[in-house]
Amino acid sequence: MRIFLLAAVSAAAISGAAFAAEKPMYGAWGVDLTARDVAVKPGDDFNKYANGAWEKKTTIPADQASAGVGYDVYNRSQDQLRTLIETADASTPIGALYKSFTDEAKVEQVDDAPLKADLAKLAAVSSKAELAKALGAAHGGFGPDLFSLDIYPDAKNPELNTLYIGQSGLGLPDRDYYLTDGFKPQLAAYTAFAERALKMAGYADPAKSAADVIAFETAIAKVSWAVADRRDIDKVYNPVTMDELKAYAPEVPWADYLAAAGVTGRSQVVLGEKSAVRDIAKLFADTPLETLKAWQTVQGVLEMSPYLSKRFVDSRFDYIKVLSGQTQLRPRWKRGVQLVDGSLGELVGQAYVAKYFPPSSKAQMVDLIANLKTAMAERIQKAPWMAPATKQAALAKLSKMSVMVGYPDKWRDYSGLKLDVTDLYGNVRRSGAFEWAYTLGDLGKPVDHGKWGMTPQTVNAYNGGLENKIVFPAGILQAPYFDPAADPAVNYGAIGAVIGHEISHGFDDQGRKIDDTGKLRDWWTAEDAKRFEAQAAVLGGQYGTYEPVPGMKINPALTMGENIADLAGLQVAYDAYHAALKGKPAPVVGGMTGDQRFFLAFAQSWQDKSRDDSLKQQMASDPHSPSNFRVIGPTRNVDAWYAAFGVKPGDKFYLPPEKRSRIW
Ligand SMILES: [Zn+2]
Repeated sequence: MRIFLLAAVSAAAISGAAFAAEKPMYGAWGVDLTARDVAVKPGDDFNKYANGAWEKKTTIPADQASAGVGYDVYNRSQDQLRTLIETADASTPIGALYKSFTDEAKVEQVDDAPLKADLAKLAAVSSKAELAKALGAAHGGFGPDLFSLDIYPDAKNPELNTLYIGQSGLGLPDRDYYLTDGFKPQLAAYTAFAERALKMAGYADPAKSAADVIAFETAIAKVSWAVADRRDIDKVYNPVTMDELKAYAPEVPWADYLAAAGVTGRSQVVLGEKSAVRDIAKLFADTPLETLKAWQTVQGVLEMSPYLSKRFVDSRFDYIKVLSGQTQLRPRWKRGVQLVDGSLGELVGQAYVAKYFPPSSKAQMVDLIANLKTAMAERIQKAPWMAPATKQAALAKLSKMSVMVGYPDKWRDYSGLKLDVTDLYGNVRRSGAFEWAYTLGDLGKPVDHGKWGMTPQTVNAYNGGLENKIVFPAGILQAPYFDPAADPAVNYGAIGAVIGHEISHGFDDQGRKIDDTGKLRDWWTAEDAKRFEAQAAVLGGQYGTYEPVPGMKINPALTMGENIADLAGLQVAYDAYHAALKGKPAPVVGGMTGDQRFFLAFAQSWQDKSRDDSLKQQMASDPHSPSNFRVIGPTRNVDAWYAAFGVKPGDKFYLPPEKRSRIW
């Protein structure tokens, strides 16, 4: 391991090629002008104006659910990881894990032997008491659980990690898949998968057992919380003592269950979806043992199929392709890279940043983020609806918000993980156990703020609300989001809006409930909250009319926080861009004003073409709006966008000034 990493570092130092960037990756100044469809009026559909020609000429690859800049950057990163991973020696953890995945002959030869051993243990369970232990042991072990177990900062005492228990147990992405007609094909595909899995596991009447499993999961779906409620931090913070938990949901032997998960000595836990935990516990008692065991089998097979022989891989793909709309399985190397990336994230990440992340990018980002924070502070100061005392508290929260860029200061140690080049299934199981032990190691301990919730190579960013921090992994600091060689208007419009988005989460419909120390505490006056909610309702009213897939509109409650952050991010990035010009007019480049380039770069940073099934999955389960409305939704609320593109009354997405959202 050590040798491999040193080799990677020195190779980068010698060649330096990975860092070279004299000219922008996209176009002459950072934007792909050929992607535009200039026949479309910006006010009629700004996304089509910015991305329409690209959309027309783009075919979504058969093995992808979507295409666009997000996928392009992801694929670019995966190619880079592939280089690092494929050259790793089999004696290193990365090499051993990857080679165990790519040795298809071995995987075929082993077939279902390792799975059989796990299934035999499930089959031997003869009572609900034993089954409860199997559910607990599923964390870091084999099979599903009816409950989620997470270790996070205690929202009321955010310097200490605690245990959150929530709803779980569904094999489909969300409760809506069981309960609404729009997802009938997906439910049918899952039912068919369940039958195949039970048949492969040797069930005598797989059709009957599969029907029982689906009926059981449908019952779970009925008592599960809707995803919009699950993001309401007030609703999902329900601390209880162990005695209260036993009284509230007496059907589960909690102490034994938790002990099997490795959790002992807790006097208090936090319930997430409280009533669902209670009702799922009832279902646990009311459902026949054999149905529960069949359910474990179906989901256990589902989880482990990617690491089994071809018949398992294909059976699983026949199901999941109906969720995403992709028609072709991704090539084996991509799946192998994904496995290594997911299992040894920071080990791969350490090599990745050494080779592909220039230190100068980190310095540039730190400056950009500081400018964005200043712009956000000015927005807060100017917000007409916020009381002076609330403004002071908001500014304090903003100034304390910590910023992390590129990669963590301290790398994770994987030396305890045993990997065997001949044992893919065992590697995945040991890796799962290793991961759970790592997570569990935080329970009851002070929060380590240096730990990251994303790996450095992740093409994403996040706001860690309970730690009041924002994190920008190296993976997203690439063109077209961030390009050191691009026009500043482009960097502000793309990564600037992402930075503003993450900062503003600290002050959105959930962030406003968390104070500067990360504590769940209402620090707003009742009047502030009322005025904020009125403004948020204006925005929600707009998003509720958008229909990305025929017959399916955006859920404004689910997407509220992200929509607010998208708008705030754009506004703050715009302010920061102008502040950076220091009072001078922006130069005209390629016949375009600075503002035009800024908004165009913003729109192209969301360039995306998705399959309908994938969009439906996103809209049912993801708090982010589909990409085209992440372009249209925010821009039409920004006055400067109207001026930049001459958008007029009568244009399809024109909003009169009094109907534009004025949250920030
Ligand atoms: Zn967000």
